[in-house]
Amino acid sequence: MLSGRNPSIVVNSHWHPSHTFGNATFGSCTIYGTERTRTRINELGPVWVATVEDPEWGSRTAALQARHDTEPDPLRRREIAVELAARHDLRDSRDRVRVRPPDEIVEDRYLFKGNRGVSIVAGAGHSESDSVVFVTETETLFAGDLVSVGTHPNLVSADLEKWQTTLGKVEKIAPQHLVPGHGPVTGIESCSVLADYLRRIEEIATSDDAPEMPEEYQDWELPGHFFDGIAVLRARRAGALDP
Ligand SMILES: [Zn+2]
Repeated sequence: MLSGRNPSIVVNSHWHPSHTFGNATFGSCTIYGTERTRTRINELGPVWVATVEDPEWGSRTAALQARHDTEPDPLRRREIAVELAARHDLRDSRDRVRVRPPDEIVEDRYLFKGNRGVSIVAGAGHSESDSVVFVTETETLFAGDLVSVGTHPNLVSADLEKWQTTLGKVEKIAPQHLVPGHGPVTGIESCSVLADYLRRIEEIATSDDAPEMPEEYQDWELPGHFFDGIAVLRARRAGALDP
């Protein structure tokens, strides 16, 4: 992709279906990912396929469309629109959908042969196992969902302590350009913005009050992730969910 030619290598930053369910479309490319990423894709792949074949797809989609049409908050409405678009995309491509886990497993750090100095560095936090790709030649780091910009991160399979550690690791790499999982291309300063966000949400989740979104995050995309994240953190604290 970077060279303007067809890609020959794909790196899965983590197992979430929005980042891996399209693996099969990359044909003869070699797909890299961590062991945990491969395990989760193998475990959950049949569930994803089942959602594509869901006999209630029509009624669920209609209900979601109705929620969208009556939602007064423009950010929430846009979030629902994204979900609707994903449902339609999946349905349209259901004949081609196939679960494809990574072919090659990497752990810790992996340097590709070649003169661009492309490496994969593994960490964790957003999911149980995340990877970033760093291109030395252009000082560009592809952060996957470990960094999101102007967008609430998904905390459903997050470990906030590990996430802070991995953000510190990314800061040490000190890339000039950072490509986040969501939002525009940014700089390294986005790591500390996200680190602050994670501290704030952890703090909010420790109380039992109705969660209120801090003002500085009120114009961020995907606001549902904020409330879902609080719910997950509280459920974990109550012992109702595994960390
Ligand atoms: Zn993700």
